[in-house]
Amino acid sequence: GIRLDNISKRYGDHLVIDDVSLNVEPGTVTALIGPSGAGKSTFLRCINLLERPDSGTIQVDHHTIEPGKVINAKDLAALRRTVGMVFQSFNLFPHMSALKNISFPQQKVLGRSKEEADERALQLLERVGLKDKAHQHPGRCSGGQQQRIAIARALALDPSIMLFDEPTSALDPEVGLEVLAVMRELADDGMTMIVVTHEMQFARDVSDTLVVMADCKIIEQGDPRAIMSDPQEDRTRRFLRAVL
Ligand code: ATP
Ligand code: MG
Repeated sequence: GIRLDNISKRYGDHLVIDDVSLNVEPGTVTALIGPSGAGKSTFLRCINLLERPDSGTIQVDHHTIEPGKVINAKDLAALRRTVGMVFQSFNLFPHMSALKNISFPQQKVLGRSKEEADERALQLLERVGLKDKAHQHPGRCSGGQQQRIAIARALALDPSIMLFDEPTSALDPEVGLEVLAVMRELADDGMTMIVVTHEMQFARDVSDTLVVMADCKIIEQGDPRAIMSDPQEDRTRRFLRAVL
């Protein structure tokens, strides 16, 4: 699971995350929504230390990151490995086949043999419905296919937690559905997930907890259906009116 206590983050004198706490139980899906600039991406990036918060404590599985604590490269690598991340832009290696995109990081990060890594990559390509694209380069795959390759690449490092930052917002709606279907299966398999998304149907149907961020804070959280049908905060109501 994930536990964040009193996380704050500023860029210069611009406060971006203001004393945010969140608990994510193992095997649950948390959907994170809120207006642009609320701090959703920054918050997500704090969880795997792509950003270092200025204060607050982060617990990810058995890793604990306290403010001011020096993290050595080995601990940082271990934490990053525990947390897989998928971005809006797929960030695949353009000069590598789909298979190699998924196989290469396993060899680099986990020290797996090429044979072992390739085999796992093929399994994962099958899982995301893309076995036939193994030898294709990303540039010749659709956006939805590229995003599914990116998900497979993240899964290849055997993370116990997956973070998604608007994984479908660069995609046509129809293609986005293929990606959401893969994410839904992951959730059904019990993966712990935090998903920043504007896909309210996904949030309603798949997430266990809906978290609303606005103005650097979590303003509301709870059962997705309850919040969508009866938001307690005016700011939530306005946001939902815009996206529903
Ligand atoms: P969106 O829905 O548009 O993706 P968001 O909720 O993900 O928005 P963030 O990207 O976390 O919001 O940004 C929160 C605030 O932090 C914004 O005001 C943004 O301009 C600022 N910000 C983000 N990254 C940086 C950075 N590297 N340096 C300075 N300011 C930043
Ligand atoms: Mg963002």
